[in-house]
Amino acid sequence: MQKGKIGVTTENIFPVIKQFLYSDREIFLREMVSNAVDATQKLKTLSSKGEFNGDLGDLTIHITVGKDTITVSDRGLGMTAGEIDKYINQIAFSGANDFLDKYKNDANAIIGHFGLGFYSAFMVSKQVEIVTKSYKEGSQAVRWSCDGSPEFQITDAERDDRGTDIILHIDDDSKEYLQETTIQALLKKYCRFLPVPIACGKKKEWKEGKEVETAEDNIINNVEPLWTRTPSELKDEDYKNFYRELYPMQEEPMFWIHLNVDFPFHLTGILYFPKIKSNLDLQKNRIQLYCNQVFVTDSVEGIVPDFLTLLHGVIDSPDIPLNVSRSYLQSDSNVKKISGYITRKVADRLTSIFKNDRKEFESKWDDVKLFINYGMLTEEDFYSKMEKVALFKDTEGTYFTYEEYRKLIEPNQTDRNKNLIYLYATNKEEQFGYIEAAGNKGYSVLLMDNQLDIPMIGMLEQKFGNNSRFQRVDSDSIDNLIAKEDTVKNDLPAGQLRMITKVFSSQMPKMEKADFHVDAQSLGESALPVMITCSEYMRRMKDMAAIQPGMGFYGEMPDMYTVILNKDHKLIQRILEDAGAACDAKVKPEEEKLAALKERQSELRKAREGKKDEEVPQEEKDEMKEIDGKISEAEETISGIYSGYAADNKTVHELIDLALLQNGMLKGEALSSFIRRSVELI
Ligand code: ADP
Ligand code: MG
Repeated sequence: MQKGKIGVTTENIFPVIKQFLYSDREIFLREMVSNAVDATQKLKTLSSKGEFNGDLGDLTIHITVGKDTITVSDRGLGMTAGEIDKYINQIAFSGANDFLDKYKNDANAIIGHFGLGFYSAFMVSKQVEIVTKSYKEGSQAVRWSCDGSPEFQITDAERDDRGTDIILHIDDDSKEYLQETTIQALLKKYCRFLPVPIACGKKKEWKEGKEVETAEDNIINNVEPLWTRTPSELKDEDYKNFYRELYPMQEEPMFWIHLNVDFPFHLTGILYFPKIKSNLDLQKNRIQLYCNQVFVTDSVEGIVPDFLTLLHGVIDSPDIPLNVSRSYLQSDSNVKKISGYITRKVADRLTSIFKNDRKEFESKWDDVKLFINYGMLTEEDFYSKMEKVALFKDTEGTYFTYEEYRKLIEPNQTDRNKNLIYLYATNKEEQFGYIEAAGNKGYSVLLMDNQLDIPMIGMLEQKFGNNSRFQRVDSDSIDNLIAKEDTVKNDLPAGQLRMITKVFSSQMPKMEKADFHVDAQSLGESALPVMITCSEYMRRMKDMAAIQPGMGFYGEMPDMYTVILNKDHKLIQRILEDAGAACDAKVKPEEEKLAALKERQSELRKAREGKKDEEVPQEEKDEMKEIDGKISEAEETISGIYSGYAADNKTVHELIDLALLQNGMLKGEALSSFIRRSVELI
């Protein structure tokens, strides 16, 4: 029997392992099983090189859950006493204290740094035994045992077959691992695609309404997962089946990419484009990261660009340093290269589908759009790869590349200032009237109804350059949106303009957080009599406020709407005449009064020019004040006359309500009174 002290420079590493590695304790199983797999693979290699001539036999690794123990048994190459001493007893802990301090909550980092895979067994064990026999001819089986202090014992042991048993005597505070179902679940998580069969427990079967154990081993893993196979040998069905194996509950994927690189790093994997329509967050954490078929994590943030986390599938690379902390991963140059590589591959795949089968690409566009836009918004590289491939869709469902669309609208949608106006709608139904008005002018309207479209618009305006503008169809009258002549005609005399705007503004409903400004324009006889628009600028600010914290100020502001009266429409003209006939006699004397007051006001203002406040005589100041009061009094009287007239005018109310209705702003009580009035009018 040999006794000794494990070669640590720090006094005692075991309390550290126990204490600090608490959160990730379950990875002990991954470490034990992957050592067993390594030992098995090494033996296979020796055998293929002719350095081992014995029979490989059944290489299945067995995990057995006992009353107080978990045993991991392999038929790999085993160890001699000398090898145990070299590989298990001697661990180099240079600079251990600093490192432990920094990474005390990160088991992966500690294990990786010290090459401590095997010692992670002490996270859950009060005692660990190794019973092993080397494949080398005439080897003596040995037993190594350690109770978690730096002291260990090595004795000779009895063992017929080559290979290793690792026996974990589970600690009292880790009893939860002594359930076979728990261990099976952990094996499913970490060992599902390991290259050597892993058995735990027996297969179960339904017999006479009861689940009973069979004699057959329950094999946990698929030893040849699809990504390790040659792409040319695989059919679409294989990829779909594997997707189902990974994500049993998901809808069928749309496309996939089989990754396979040897230089300058090793990486294999399969990425799937799932159907995504909305809700970014739900889809996160779906790509699984493997290292030589050992599951490492399914939170790949920092390893692949954010937008790629929307993809599904697996990435397997021995070159991603797995047993390290996340912050280290993110600055690792291999990881950066890998992330760039994947981005490029994804863009290439999409480009090739676009080029080879535009129809197919268009038919899937609505489903991949969110993903592609996310990538274009967040990765400059991806934008430049995708700008020739990304599509716009118009309200009629036709798809265009950016370039095609620009060519389409350039002749007709360039305004008098040489701005190219991209019209868009966010809701085909709600903005129907405006889309129709644009259509009547021969304009095209894009459909931008996706949650990333608003930020996309902002970015595209920058990318397309100074002369490109996006305007929502309902943000102004169509003639103002794409203004072609020098001025929009507005030849109503001032008095008439005031009358018609007062008539309508006095009757606009009082709404919380909505302000209406009434204006009259010449929109042509066939356009609607009344339209409500919301300025592009204000609305975008509010849209941004809704998705960006710190802009809440805009969100609090009332919505500012412009009510545009079409003075060319015969109903508006009729109201003009009718209101004139009803109010002119009453308004006239007030207007004369007002004109006189205004004249006096401007005289007084002139007299004041260039004078300091104290140089103005007191009586002039008093008169000024009095005139101001009288002016607003007269204005109020005039407003009162118009509003008195308008209050009983059904046409005015009907027109206002119709415009509100078109914008989805007529609700509840207002809606039912509109319906009542409409019925009366019929
Ligand atoms: P790593 O696996 O990174 O080398 P570990 O701490 O997990 O580090 O294991 C240390 C060494 O112990 C291994 O390199 C191997 O030589 C030896 N070893 C561990 N488990 C086994 C096993 N089941 N069979 C043979 N050798 C093993
Ligand atoms: Mg290991």
